Amino acid sequence: MFDWAAIVYFFFVGSVVGSFLNVVVARLPEGLSVVSPRSRCPRCQKQIAWYDNIPIVSWLLLGAKCRNCKLPVSPRYPLVELLMGCIGAVSFVQLGLTWQLLVWFPVAAILLAIVFLDIDHWWVPDVLTYPAMAWALAGAFLPGGIGWVAALLGLAPALFLWGLAWAFLKITKREGLGLGDVKLLALMGLVLGPMGAVTALFCAAIQGAVIGVIVIATGGHKAIPQPANDDGWVPHPRAIPFGPFLALGTYEVMLMPDVFADIPARIAAALLPLLQ
Ligand SMILES: [Zn+2]
Repeated sequence: MFDWAAIVYFFFVGSVVGSFLNVVVARLPEGLSVVSPRSRCPRCQKQIAWYDNIPIVSWLLLGAKCRNCKLPVSPRYPLVELLMGCIGAVSFVQLGLTWQLLVWFPVAAILLAIVFLDIDHWWVPDVLTYPAMAWALAGAFLPGGIGWVAALLGLAPALFLWGLAWAFLKITKREGLGLGDVKLLALMGLVLGPMGAVTALFCAAIQGAVIGVIVIATGGHKAIPQPANDDGWVPHPRAIPFGPFLALGTYEVMLMPDVFADIPARIAAALLPLLQ
């Protein structure tokens, strides 16, 4: 039976973390501190009081506007809080009060920050992926962890993709896959092990293809900014970032293993009779 009080608690903790992730997504690309100063309204510069900064609730109570100058506040803010709240609650239901919850929860939060940084800036920052990889590797040794063999083998899909990206660049002189995505896949391998990472990559590719076609067909990709990165790389005008789909696949395999963990095996089982 579910412990509803604990589920509500982990939803609340997740939504508070989501509120912090909003700050990270806004300030990290600017090179600003994510801990100080306290958040201000970008127009009237009035510091946001604690009671106007309660995840999801304050946005609703204030009617999506600044209390002082009525500047509209993007629904992105409560959305990130709601998503992280749900991730917190589902993570508790799936993992229970375990060492692995302690390992997974920060990784899940970092993944959500990466989702929105990649959408906004085509940026999967090393400053987020590297600590998450170290944390996930430590978690492999903790009780309930995947162990060091699976963690090291988990890096294999990323190495394979890194080789492909390198060959693609050599042959076509164009960047087909960013190194940020390869590092993200390495993180997935350390969290999920080799089979889990391949499954999550598979889910990411399928959903990326389907959703990508829908987004481009409806013109939604024009809402994604297309600035040149610091290194001068400019995304294709109809490209959409892949990092969010890698994160989605990771959440699916980690949090809904009953649905997603054996999808490649099921598809293989369905296709095998056709080949005979
Ligand atoms: Zn204001």
